[in-house]
Parts: sequence; C-alpha cells; structure tokens
Amino acid sequence: MSVLKFNQYLILEQGTESCPVATQNLEINTKRRNAAISADYIKYGPLNLTDEKYWEEYAKKWKTTPDVAKQSNCGNCIAFDISTRMQECMPGEVSDPDGRLGYCWMHHFKCHSARTCYTWAAGGPIEEDSVSAEWQSKNEEDVNKKRKKKRKTKNSPDWQSKNEEAVNEKRKTKGMKEGLHDTSWENDEGDKITLMDLLNATEDISVERVSVEELKPHLLSWDGDEEEIIKIDSADLQYPILIFVDNDGEFISIIDGHHRAQKAVRKGLKTIKAKVIPINDLPKDIRKVFSHMNQLKKKKK
Ligand code: SF4
Repeated sequence: MSVLKFNQYLILEQGTESCPVATQNLEINTKRRNAAISADYIKYGPLNLTDEKYWEEYAKKWKTTPDVAKQSNCGNCIAFDISTRMQECMPGEVSDPDGRLGYCWMHHFKCHSARTCYTWAAGGPIEEDSVSAEWQSKNEEDVNKKRKKKRKTKNSPDWQSKNEEAVNEKRKTKGMKEGLHDTSWENDEGDKITLMDLLNATEDISVERVSVEELKPHLLSWDGDEEEIIKIDSADLQYPILIFVDNDGEFISIIDGHHRAQKAVRKGLKTIKAKVIPINDLPKDIRKVFSHMNQLKKKKK
C-alpha cells in the first residue's frame, strides 16, 4: 500500500472528528480540484475570478445574468464547510482579499468562496461544527456503501463465473487440464496422460538444481490475476518442476511447475529443484501427447 493510500485510509477511518484527507494532503486536494474543474457536470471555476466568459456560461445554466449568477457561489453553497472544526483542519491562512477557503462536501476538496460550480445548491455555508460532523458522517456512510457494493460485485456469482471462465480459457490454450488432485494433458486426438504417468515414466531421472534466472524468459505471467497469485504463494518448492529438453539438452518447455518457478523468482532464489526430461526419451504414448512441442522446437530451429 502506498504512503498516500495509507494516509487516506487512516484519515477516512478515524471517524467523524477527523479532518478530511484533502485538507491534509495537497496532492489529493489538487487531484480532486482538477477533476472538479474538468468534469462537465461540475466545471468548478473560474480559475481567474475576472474571467467573464466563465460567468456568462454559468449564467446561461441558471437563465440569468452574469452579475446575478455570481451570487450563487461556493460561499453560500449548502456543501461549503467553514465551521470552526474545519477551519482547524486547514493548514495556513484561509482568507484572502476575494474571500476564503472552505471544504466542499460534494466534491471533497478545498474550494474558494468566490468561485462556484455547476452543482451549486442554496443553503450554505456550513458554520456549525455539529452540521459539519453530520456531513462527514453521511459521507462516510456513502463511502462504506460504495465499498460494500464493490465487494458484493466482486463476490457475485456472475463475477466468479466470469473469473473461472477466464482461468479455464487460459488452461485450455495451454492444452492442459488441472483438477485439484491431478494434472493431465491431452492432444487433439484425445490421447491423454496424467502427471502421475509422466512422473512414473521419468522416475529414473534424478532431480537437479537449475538456474532460476535462465527460466525467467520462459515463465507464464499472471500479473494481477488473484487466483494465480494465491497458487504461486501456496506452491511447494520441495517438489521439482518438470522441464522438457530436446536431444541436445536445449530447453523446450516447463511442462509442470510454473507456479513453483514463479515463486522461486519472487523469493529471489538462485536455483530451483527440477527434473530435466529429454522429450524424445519418453515412451511413445507420452511423446504422442506432447508431439506438438517437439514440432514447435523444430520450427524455431
Ligand atoms: S458544490 Fe458548492 S461548495 Fe462545492 S465546489 Fe460546488 S459550489 Fe463550491
């Protein structure tokens, strides 16, 4: 978690007596202010208070004159918080010759009383600490609702089935089917062998340690795929990975153990246990299932 996000988390979680994060963190405040300036439905401004063009446009929205429109500004907006508690949250001077800074509970940044936006609503400013606290608590309720909704969406059967489909698709493209207790491979003709078959056929091949660095270019990448990351974390490095090589000992493919190899990379290990299997020494029925790999290698050559 970045420092920025961590600070944000702390301040949001501290309850209704804490300062809104944008009053404490200039970077977040600027980001939100810029977003409010560029969003068509907000158009916070004008940046230059003498920008008559802004006020003319703003007046059109309210079907009035620019001079009248100027009276509907942050300074009297229902969301503009200038309570004592909020003033204490604002570092530095809050007043200037044009007006003062306050906190906008609608768009969550420090806005200026002489400016305005397209979501202005009459009824402000907020001067009482108790009203300010009510806005904050309402805001936190909304944030929590959004978080819950996000979690719900992520846990919904729909999302899960989509996720599973994506994972299965990846497996299909590798020509590999994985169950909880077995791994098997199948060719286009329907010939199938299991991991157990492969291990039995290679029991005479001793386990050695191979360079993790050399494996890196051949590893599958699952960046951001939570399910695969969990698998990588729980991979057991005591079991050797299985690598196919050609007659000259040239690498063909990691046939089993991508998660273990990824774990070794992430742990910064120099070597990993492996069985290096010359594919052409395998029994015919097994070679048949992996024949496409040999052809791939020949084409590369
Ligand atoms: S919502 Fe109100 S306080 Fe917030 S920027 Fe718009 S006018 Fe200003």
